[in-house]
Amino acid sequence: MYRKTRIAITGAGIGGLTAALALMQRGFQVDVYEQASQFGEVGAGIQLSANGTRCLFALGLQQDVLRCASQPSAKEIRHWSSGDTWRLFDLGAESVERYGAPFLMMHRADLHAVLVQHIRAIRPEALHLGARLAGLTQHAEGVELEFEDGSRRHAHVLIGADGVHSRVRQQLHGRDDPQYTGCMAWRGVIAAAELPAHLRRPVGTNWVGPGAHVITYPLRNGELMNFVGIVERAAWQKESWTEQGTVDECRADFAGWHADVLTLVERLDRPFKWALMGRTPLTRWGQGCATLLGDACHPTLPFLAQGAMMAIEDGVVLARCLEACPDDPATALQRYERLRIERTTAIVLKSAENTRRFHNPALASAEGAQRYIETEWAPDKVRARYDWLFSYDALSVDAGAQIAAEPA
Ligand SMILES: Cc1cc2nc3c(=O)[nH]c(=O)nc-3n(C[C@H](O)[C@H](O)[C@H](O)COP(=O)(O)OP(=O)(O)OC[C@H]3O[C@@H](n4cnc5c(N)ncnc54)[C@H](O)[C@@H]3O)c2cc1C
Repeated sequence: MYRKTRIAITGAGIGGLTAALALMQRGFQVDVYEQASQFGEVGAGIQLSANGTRCLFALGLQQDVLRCASQPSAKEIRHWSSGDTWRLFDLGAESVERYGAPFLMMHRADLHAVLVQHIRAIRPEALHLGARLAGLTQHAEGVELEFEDGSRRHAHVLIGADGVHSRVRQQLHGRDDPQYTGCMAWRGVIAAAELPAHLRRPVGTNWVGPGAHVITYPLRNGELMNFVGIVERAAWQKESWTEQGTVDECRADFAGWHADVLTLVERLDRPFKWALMGRTPLTRWGQGCATLLGDACHPTLPFLAQGAMMAIEDGVVLARCLEACPDDPATALQRYERLRIERTTAIVLKSAENTRRFHNPALASAEGAQRYIETEWAPDKVRARYDWLFSYDALSVDAGAQIAAEPA
């Protein structure tokens, strides 16, 4: 089946590529425009919870994803200075049994490459590099895209998957610059062979402490260990939102932390610093035949590890809505937005709430931490915080539902 609706997507991040693949598999003509001159993702890991892996597997990526992912057995909480350890939840077979899909950890470049490969297998010329969107105009037949090199393209539908600094968002909703959230992230990977055996176990670990936390997890079947260190910092001095840092600077940010954390820092290959950016959630995403997806509409602090999962869910739900209503894309886009906005807004707000939980002053001493962790991470509370995230099924939400008229 080949549909006549032409769809343009700006941004070839995980969100844009997932949407492209889901749409192409449903017979739509899709072109993805990416500003970068080559494809890639940052050299860091990504946690894929069951709500995301369920979508990726439904897109036919199961074999390729499993080939290069790590499947951890559990997640643990550790105290920043004593190193005391608490079980957060079991993963592995437990995730499959409970949610019908696994919890995986993957190098971003690997996931990105799998998506690119599957898109190219359908239509090699669908991906356009060095194509930076500058502006857009909507008219009766769709959307006119204008690129920085002066070229123009026409599409019936435009999906802005162009990240936190989205040009499409700016064009649809006016300029509102993202704000620095007060937290920055250290990111890097470590060759697992350089770590002692107890730091190479197949578990995800959240080290929690006052004003900072550290996440580690295995990648590439345990060959690499991912490191994310989040630190509260009053201001971000530089113009760029990401830059290379040094092991010395990272070590200084974790002075006094447990020896295991410092061992990880010492072995970081190339530590990068990221300013974590946020925006107040939008109440509308789209307009006419143009809409937004992923970080372009709901950038989030990564404290529930759901930013890319939301982008993946968005892509699948959007493709299903367009499939259910191919002759009226504007209505399909409204359905998509109504199906997605409540969940994504809740995730953004609850991720921000986790700053207080992960960085709580009660964690300063080992005794205070014991009480705080036993209360905050009690099994019923953990289930309440994560079940609704992992059990969501983008493949079964009602993509063909009638939408009620807008309130006047
Ligand atoms: C430290 C950290 C850890 C994280 N960990 C996790 C995790 O474990 N699990 C999880 O689910 N999420 C995680 N996230 C969040 C996740 O990385 C993002 O939410 C996700 O990558 C967003 O994907 P996206 O495709 O929407 O945007 P992006 O990945 O930002 O992609 C946008 C693309 O658009 C392109 N672009 C921008 N402007 C233009 C233009 N004008 N024209 C053409 N192209 C353009 C960009 O070059 C880019 O390729 C984490 C984030 C951080 C910072």
